[in-house]
Parts: sequence; C-alpha cells; structure tokens
Amino acid sequence: MRFPLVEVALPAWIDAVVSDPAAVYPDLDAQMAFAIELARRNVAAGTGGPFGAAIFDMHTGRLVAPGVNRVMAANCSVAHAEITAIMIAQKILGTWDLGGEGLAPLRLVTSTEPCAMCLGAVVWSGVRQLVCGARDADARRIGFDEGPKPAEWVAALESRGIAVIQDVQRQDAAAVLALYLDQGALYTTPGRRNGPVGRVP
Ligand SMILES: [Zn+2]
Repeated sequence: MRFPLVEVALPAWIDAVVSDPAAVYPDLDAQMAFAIELARRNVAAGTGGPFGAAIFDMHTGRLVAPGVNRVMAANCSVAHAEITAIMIAQKILGTWDLGGEGLAPLRLVTSTEPCAMCLGAVVWSGVRQLVCGARDADARRIGFDEGPKPAEWVAALESRGIAVIQDVQRQDAAAVLALYLDQGALYTTPGRRNGPVGRVP
C-alpha cells in the first residue's frame, strides 16, 4: 500500500490515570470527573487540547474507553476527544456499532459539548446517551470554534434515540478551558477548535 496506516494514540500518561482497565465509575458525577481529569492532564502534560471524553457502560459504570484531544500530536484535525474515545471503544469491542446487539447500552461523557463534527460522530457511533460538562458557549467564549451546529442539536440527537444530559460539573469543565487559555503560547490558528486556537484579539 502506497499510503500510510493512520493511527491515533493516547498519551503515555493515560496508563497512570487508568491503572485498572475495568475500573467502575459508579455515577455521572464520577464519570464526568474522570473526563474532566483527562482534559486537565492533557493540558498539564502539553499533549493536546483541553478536552477529555470517555465511554461507559450505562448499567455498571464500567469504563470502556477514554479519549483526549490529539489533534496536534497526531497531525489530525478529527482527533477530538469524543472521536478518539469512540474509535478506541469500537476497536476494543470489535464493532463499528456501539449500539449493536448483545452490547450493554453505552454513554459518552465529554468535558465539553460536542462540536459540529463530533455531533455527527455521536450519531453514527451507536452510543445511547451523551453527557456534557462545559457548554458550547464556554468554549466559544475563549476562542474555540465549535462549527456550524444546528441550534436544535439536543432535540436532533434525542429524536434519534440518544438522550442528552447537559451541565454536569459545567464549572469545573469550563475551568479547564480557561487553564488552557492561561497557558498562552500555542495559539496560532485563529478560531479553530482543538488545534492551536486563536486568542481572541
Ligand atoms: Zn469535536
């Protein structure tokens, strides 16, 4: 094959955060705290944008797959935290459909509401529920571009059988976005979410 294999790897520190691959996070608060911790560590380690996500078994709270933003590290504009978590979950479970027969219902927990791209990815992923921390507005406020999302995106997901829960630990999640902004330095591409983003002039 003349073209390269494409891979998106999680940062090395993930093993320290997820020491038990079958760890159980018993409720939404614990699950969101985990997603936010991923985002925080990604910023602290300089391994990507301030976004974390994870997929959990809705019945047991078992972690299926973590994800963080890897856009810069992977030179891949689609390597958002939600996409990374979905790809890893599908690899682990050996299926393109996380809502397939025989699987427990799965939820995607994300530290910030999905952007326009991830919104579509959530629909195709097969997850049954989406849980969000920070709002789109929190991300836009510090210069991230969330893309052309329909105003009625929550209703659009719910009409497809994906329940949406918003504002879980919103303040803590938004604080990580601010942390990223405070680090300064890497903001070179105005307006683009998850890459080096532009400081609002
Ligand atoms: Zn996204």
